[in-house]
Formats: sequence, C-alpha cells, structure tokens
Amino acid sequence: MALRCWRWWHWSAWPRSRPPPSGSTPSRSRTPLGFCQQFSTQEQTPQICVVGSGPAGFYTAQHLLKHHPRACVDIFEKQLVPFGLVRFGVAPDHPEVKNVINTFTQTARSDRCAFHGNVVVGRDVTVPELREAYHAVVLSYGAEDNQALEIPGEELPGVFSARAFVGWYNGLPENRELAPDLSCDTAVILGQGNVALDVARILLTPPEHLEELREMIQLPGTRPILDPADFLGLQDRIKEVPRPRKRLTELLLRTATEKPGVEEAARQASASRAWGLRFFRSPKQVLPSADGRQVAGIRLAVTRLEQGVGEATRAVPTGDVEDLPCGLVLSSIGYKSRPIDPSVPFDPKLGIIPNVDGRVMNVPGLYCSGWVKRGPTGVITTTMTDSFLTSQILLQDLKAGQLPSGPRPGYAAIKALLSSRGVWPVSFSDWEKLDAEEVSRGQGTGKPREKLLDPQEMLRLLGR
Ligand code: FAD
Repeated sequence: MALRCWRWWHWSAWPRSRPPPSGSTPSRSRTPLGFCQQFSTQEQTPQICVVGSGPAGFYTAQHLLKHHPRACVDIFEKQLVPFGLVRFGVAPDHPEVKNVINTFTQTARSDRCAFHGNVVVGRDVTVPELREAYHAVVLSYGAEDNQALEIPGEELPGVFSARAFVGWYNGLPENRELAPDLSCDTAVILGQGNVALDVARILLTPPEHLEELREMIQLPGTRPILDPADFLGLQDRIKEVPRPRKRLTELLLRTATEKPGVEEAARQASASRAWGLRFFRSPKQVLPSADGRQVAGIRLAVTRLEQGVGEATRAVPTGDVEDLPCGLVLSSIGYKSRPIDPSVPFDPKLGIIPNVDGRVMNVPGLYCSGWVKRGPTGVITTTMTDSFLTSQILLQDLKAGQLPSGPRPGYAAIKALLSSRGVWPVSFSDWEKLDAEEVSRGQGTGKPREKLLDPQEMLRLLGR
C-alpha cells in the first residue's frame, strides 16, 4: 500500500516503581488485608490468576467471576496501566471500540478481582511460582512480537514494524522514542490486513479529525489509486466469496473499475493525498539512500497466481521487479507471541502456546486465552468468545476435581515474593487516578484524554 503527502500529529504514555509510601492503599481489597477470603474446605475459594489485562485477560476473569460464586481472580499486567491493545492498539478514531473498557472496569471493581500492574511475569515472578500460589493460572499475554520481513535493508532507519508504529501513535511507553520521520511524501505499508488499513487511515487523516475523534465515513482530501488490471476476472469469482469479504471486494472493484460521478471526480481531483493498494507484489529489498543512512525506496518482486485447487493456489515471482521510492516503510505482516517462561510449552512455528480448548498441553492447572492461545487474528469479540471458552473449561476441570485440592495462598504469597524482589505493583485504584489525570489534561485540549507518556511521571502522580 502506498500513501502520499500527509501531515502528522502525535498522541501519547511510562517504568518500574519504587515502594509505595507507608499508608498507601494496596490493590483493590477483598478483605481488609487485600486478599480473597478463604472459606471452609467444602466452600473452598478457588484462587485463580490471569496473566495479561487485555481483552482476553478481562473476559476470562469476567466469566470466571460470573460463573463461580466464590472464585477470586488476580490479574497480573506488565504495564502500569490495564487493557492491552484496547488502549495501545485500537486506533484513536475508533472510540466506540474502546467502550469495552467500561465492562472491564466493572470486572476490575469486583471485590473478588484485583489488578496488579507493573509486574512482568517471566521476569518478576515465574509461572511455576504462580502455579504454586494459585489453583489455576491462565496465560492471556497476547502477541507482542512482530514477524520480521527477512529482506536486505530491513534495519535501515525509516523501516518500522506496524506494531511499533501503532504503539507510538497510541502512546505505548516502550515506543514513545520511535520518532518516525514523517517529512517524506510517500509511505509504503507492507501487508493489507486490518492493522495495515488502520495505519494507512491514521496517516491519511488530518489531525483535526483525530482530535475530534469522529469515525471517518470517507477519508477527506484523499483519492484512491487502484489498478483495474489487478481486478481482472474478479467479477466472476465474487459470488464464491463469504459475505463480509464479498461486500469489501465489490467496493474495491467498483472503485477500481467504475468512473466516479461528477461530484466524486471533483473531490478526487482536489485531493492532496492519495492511497493505493498494490496486489501481486512481494517485498524483496529495502533500498537505501545514496549515503546508505536512510530508506529511499523498496524493491518489490512482481508475482502471479499459480493455479492450484483452493488453498493450494500460490503467488509465484514472475522474475520482474518494481522499485517504489518512499521515505517510510511500515511492515504490517503480522504479530506473534513470545515464549514467557521455560516451563511453559511454546510452538515457535505457530507462535502460540500449544493447547486444547485453552488447556495448556501436558501442564495441568495451566490455561491460555486470546491471541497467545489461537494466534494474532480476530477482533475483540472473537477474543471474548475464545476467553469465555477457556474459562468454561477451567471451571469444568475445577468441578471435576482436576485442579489442586486444599487452600492456596493466592496473592499473599506472590505479594511477599514481589516485595522481596523490589517490585511494587500498581492497583486498579492507582489506574483510576491516572485515568482521571489523563481525562482532565485532555479537557484542556478538546480531546477525550491526553495520555501520560512518561512512566516516572505516572509514578510520581501515584506518590511513589
Ligand atoms: P492484548 O490485547 O495484547 O493483551 C495482552 C496483555 O498482556 C497486554 O496488556 C500486555 O501488556 C500483557 N502482557 C504481555 N506480556 C506480559 C507479561 N510477561 N507479564 C504480564 N503481562 C504481560 N479489534 C477490534 O475488535 N476492533 C479494532 O478496532 C481493533 N483494532 C486493532 C488494532 C491493532 C493495531 C491491533 C494489533 C489489534 C486490533 N484489534 C481490534 C484486535 C484486538 O486488539 C485483539 O483481538 C485483542 O486485543 C487480543 O486480546 P489479548 O488479550 O489476547 O491481547
């Protein structure tokens, strides 16, 4: 995908904390001591922990709390703030998608749920330590890595993963220093998935539209460039395509092949920015500038379809190449999960934790949900369904007596371990203070919030 001429505007977000001052509240307390109440043996309290506070973590917790009257759920999160990709991935002009945060907040406010941010599982506390402290552990830590292009020039300044770029415009602290140079007039996005389209739309959108946070019906001031040759023969095959994709394909086909009406033609003629979708191209090399210090273009191999049956159809290189000048290359060819702990099985090829319906293979009491369970595909509702299923399976195992019997210490044990290691978690009420600060700063600039970027500042605001 190639984009021309944009302007830019940056949004924003934080480190490790020092111990809270004496007297500061710990995480949302369930007993005066902050731990889940133990009942008699017959009414034992299942102590469950979830790793990751994105949609998978929160939906898993929500389902467990709803379907077990006594279960207590601790959510561990490596960032200082909750909500995973809902905060750091979903594009800023999709505020209605971010509304799921209201449901997650209700879950976090339950007396049987506690959020512990600023805890990196696998570093600050190990998965075996969590398994020792809880009856069950659910891994919901998403897919934080990205697929590499594996082509020459990939390391040049000006080439970024869409993961990092999205993190930058969404205020993810680890990406706040990214500083992409947006003064060039062409950007190439490799990939045409949802993330690639989000990135394209954000690059093309005038800042004032993002500030108003209105959903875009059309991209103002832009015109599409689609090559009708790429769509040859598609008309005949459109009938076979599943419904949502059919509508999208029809729209593209119309845009590429039909002459626009007078009004639309005038709008396009006055557009200062353009975007296009390029099909049958595969990245071959990132081309350096003359001094070798910056990206200057990308070499694409031209491909054609080699007919096979169904999935066996493959794109093969024709031998021709095409050079496309650009100042920015964003690779959007997929996210992938990382292994979290040597004790947890991991399939490096699929980039997931091997599991059956959410039960981690060969590790009783260990479960997974979300992108780390099924791979980085699907939207929030897909993640919800998948997380409810994992939770259901866990509760079935609990009922069938397949989880450890006898009481477990839960957070009491982990809290002691963390403080012995100098790790001081932040609670959900801490997040609510930061949230209030962001909203109040946003009011001054006409935005729903101004994200805090600096971790040190966030900790200072929490009195740490
Ligand atoms: P995540 O949301 O990534 O949550 C994982 C959490 O685990 C994170 O908070 C992370 O910090 C934490 N974590 C990671 N490692 C550790 C560790 N070691 N210890 C403790 N915590 C850890 N879906 C839609 O429905 N609509 C959209 O508009 C939309 N836009 C998207 C835009 C982008 C750029 C992307 C990438 C995805 C988008 N999605 C959208 C998809 C949606 O975000 C995912 O389906 C969903 O977030 C997956 O949930 P998850 O909980 O598995 O992963």
